[in-house]
Amino acid sequence: MPDTDSLYRRQIAALYEHSVFYRDKLRAAGFASAAAAGGLADIGSLPFTEKDELRASQAAHPPLGAHAAIDISQAARIYSTSGTSGTPLYIPLTRADVEQWREIGRRTYSRNGLTAGQRVVTTYGAGPFVAGASLAAFEAIGCVHIPVGVGNTERLLTAIQKLAPQALACTPSYALHIAEVAAAKGVSLASIQRIIVGGEPGGGEEGFRRKLEDAWDAKVYEIMGIGDIAASLWGECAAQAGMHFSAEEWIHVELIDPETGAQKQMSDGATGELVYTHLAREAAPLLRFRSRDHAQVWVSKCQCGKTSLRARCIGRTDDMLIVRGVNVFPSAVREVVARFQPKVTGAILIRPRRKTQSCTSKICTKSTRRRFPRWPPRPSLGAERKAPERLPTRLTQSRRSKLRASLARRATTLRGTTRLGVLKPNSLPTRMAVMTSDSPATGISPFTKTWTLAPASPV
Ligand SMILES: [Zn+2]
Repeated sequence: MPDTDSLYRRQIAALYEHSVFYRDKLRAAGFASAAAAGGLADIGSLPFTEKDELRASQAAHPPLGAHAAIDISQAARIYSTSGTSGTPLYIPLTRADVEQWREIGRRTYSRNGLTAGQRVVTTYGAGPFVAGASLAAFEAIGCVHIPVGVGNTERLLTAIQKLAPQALACTPSYALHIAEVAAAKGVSLASIQRIIVGGEPGGGEEGFRRKLEDAWDAKVYEIMGIGDIAASLWGECAAQAGMHFSAEEWIHVELIDPETGAQKQMSDGATGELVYTHLAREAAPLLRFRSRDHAQVWVSKCQCGKTSLRARCIGRTDDMLIVRGVNVFPSAVREVVARFQPKVTGAILIRPRRKTQSCTSKICTKSTRRRFPRWPPRPSLGAERKAPERLPTRLTQSRRSKLRASLARRATTLRGTTRLGVLKPNSLPTRMAVMTSDSPATGISPFTKTWTLAPASPV
């Protein structure tokens, strides 16, 4: 097996040869040839790849885009992204790429504790999304795989009753939903010892994880993938100390400051945006791809004995709010709210108080500034409003100290504020809205973004 630097140099050479997009991009950045781009130690001087560039490339050069390094006839499989943040993007894989993803998935789910002979029931959609590629991983381990597909709770509960699987893999919100439906119907979930969750935030948040583990009386293991890079790329072990990276020899990971783009040192507890570079991808290799996933990483040896890089996703940098100069991820708010369970569900709704309450520091004037309420506002507690407990005050104080303690990082822009809605117990929402911003760097034009919390497929 060649070392990662040799693989990287070979990958860069392949990009110059087969990808018009990267040849032009690297030449425009001053690297006339693959040799000029240097080795892995010099990767920080190369330009990033943004998702919007891939979309533009595919729109201008259909069907696969000028970034692809193969002709469509050489692809073995073509997935597409979910399109939640724009036009769906096609992701081609060659046979070798498919094999590599299968091995990455095998490692990830093995770290989750799955072994040969165990029964695992999954709700992944095998349709257009890369999550479908994960299905092969269960067979690679030797598991007895029971796919029930997306959104069929009845079929899932029946499978648990009749086939007594030891493991379940689905999204964290759906896992909670299943537990509540099972409790209402009196269905026993006792066979399930481990719940593997991914595809959305929640599995790595302490409060939500505890709730899920209590509801199922089982241990939660988080996984994370990124469609453009690989499915099931990270997987947590029994130590629950962050997800292990499963593709060290095939994918290079960097940590960067999302605002400046500067590389950050990988050290225990360091935070930043994850940036990925393929080292041995054939169909559509990406160079310094900005994931927009904001994560905390660890490099020290895990309790399980493995030394691979570990990470926990804090949130999407796209979803980051900048509140009076402080970066706030919805996950941080969710963690605080979760402490008040079972008085509240733990599901949150963050929305701007006014439609026009944003501005950047550059365009903010005295007259516009006066229109913005101060943070933190009085929380709205919905049905809890009449509750005798002093929940609003405690919530506000707790959230304040949490924000001050852990998120006291200066940012430049949005003088907006948010209104926190706490949903009453036993009312699992099907949609969650979070105020977000078109561009976290400038804070311009916040809008309300919604996600469906109904069953989805992890990647
Ligand atoms: Zn470990």
